[in-house]
Amino acid sequence: MSRAYVGFGGNLSDPAVTLRAAAAELGREAGPIAAASPVYRSLPVGVTDQPPFLNAVAALDTALGPDELLDVLLAVEAAHGRVREVRWGPRTLDLDLLWFEGVLRADPRLTLPHPRAHEREFVLRPLCDLAPDLPLHGRPAREWLAALEPQGVEPAGLSLM
Ligand code: ATP
Ligand code: CA
Ligand code: CA
Repeated sequence: MSRAYVGFGGNLSDPAVTLRAAAAELGREAGPIAAASPVYRSLPVGVTDQPPFLNAVAALDTALGPDELLDVLLAVEAAHGRVREVRWGPRTLDLDLLWFEGVLRADPRLTLPHPRAHEREFVLRPLCDLAPDLPLHGRPAREWLAALEPQGVEPAGLSLM
């Protein structure tokens, strides 16, 4: 089994319900899920004219390899009606593979760790709830989080599981 961390996000059609359903599906198809973060409400970054996001992170213990796991993430997104239109635009569900045990790579189909995880409060806050010492680009996640300007991320009072 390999440990992986998956980032969840969504801002269309009841994202709290979608995120929970996606976590259950991921656990069934790639799991088990070892731990899940609280859910955060986040102001959109990049394309700011859209509803707030809900975000969370899950720790997964998986028998899949990283490419197979990405295929599962993309299939779960598709099953929840994910349509790729505007980059960083509104979406029902976004599942990013943030980190996969023992794998570093720059392939554009799957870059590990996720190339933007360390600059995003909506990733680092839930990730640090589970794994503050996780190494990202040579520094532990908690150091990246401590160095960030606030980006409008608050606990939503919900749990992923
Ligand atoms: P961002 O990558 O900045 O979070 P996004 O999640 O909106 O933006 P998507 O449209 O969901 O971007 O993904 C575009 C492509 O990124 C995917 O088709 C996938 O092949 C690729 N990709 C590369 N590395 C990763 C990764 N670590 N996790 C998920 N997708 C990745
Ligand atoms: Ca993303
Ligand atoms: Ca994505």
